Amino acid sequence: MKDFKGKLFVFSAPSGSGKTTIVRHLLKQKKFNLEFSISATSREPRGFEKDGEDYYFIDLKDFKNKIKSDEFLEWEEVYRDNFYGTLKSEVERIWALKKHVIFDIDVVGGLRIKKKFPNETLSVFVKPPSVDELKIRLKKRKTESEEKINMRIAKASVELATAPQFDKIIKNYDLHVALEEAEELMSAFLELEKEPKTNS
Ligand code: 5GP
Repeated sequence: MKDFKGKLFVFSAPSGSGKTTIVRHLLKQKKFNLEFSISATSREPRGFEKDGEDYYFIDLKDFKNKIKSDEFLEWEEVYRDNFYGTLKSEVERIWALKKHVIFDIDVVGGLRIKKKFPNETLSVFVKPPSVDELKIRLKKRKTESEEKINMRIAKASVELATAPQFDKIIKNYDLHVALEEAEELMSAFLELEKEPKTNS
């Protein structure tokens, strides 16, 4: 670990594409030595979300102050008055732990990270089967109002058009296949040895 060089793994996709499930799966794989980048947001916590675990929940005023004092690596007003951003201190915290950083962020933020750290970053776009399927998944999630769901769907078409700008695209049509593909991309980027396949 003496020559540890921190890498960045960006997973971006329209809301409901399954990127969070993929990121959570990768975080469980010890071999990747990953730590989740906790974003700051000005939106309200949802359901069981915890401050300092899912997000750093800060109010709008505080968020804007942090923008002014240049504390963000990237930030974005993802939805009106709902700001999201990656604090510089978050990446420093994770690299100090000698771990790689994994991000679950929107497409604009993801591409900004790649631009700031072109060699250290693997940017991955998670593609849903269709916009209709996204709508079904978001409705099933039952965490947002109809209005918010429509807002996310409207954004999805714009986001889908950015896919070719990413290093890699994972089609999340079948979750099992998508997880396997994600693991393979990670292993290749980290230059990990291939594990022999077992039947168990
Ligand atoms: P949600 O409200 O569903 O948690 O997230 C809404 C969107 O904001 C998602 O696409 C999520 O990936 C994105 N997001 C979360 N954290 C960040 C961040 O730090 N920066 C940017 N640019 N987007 C983020």
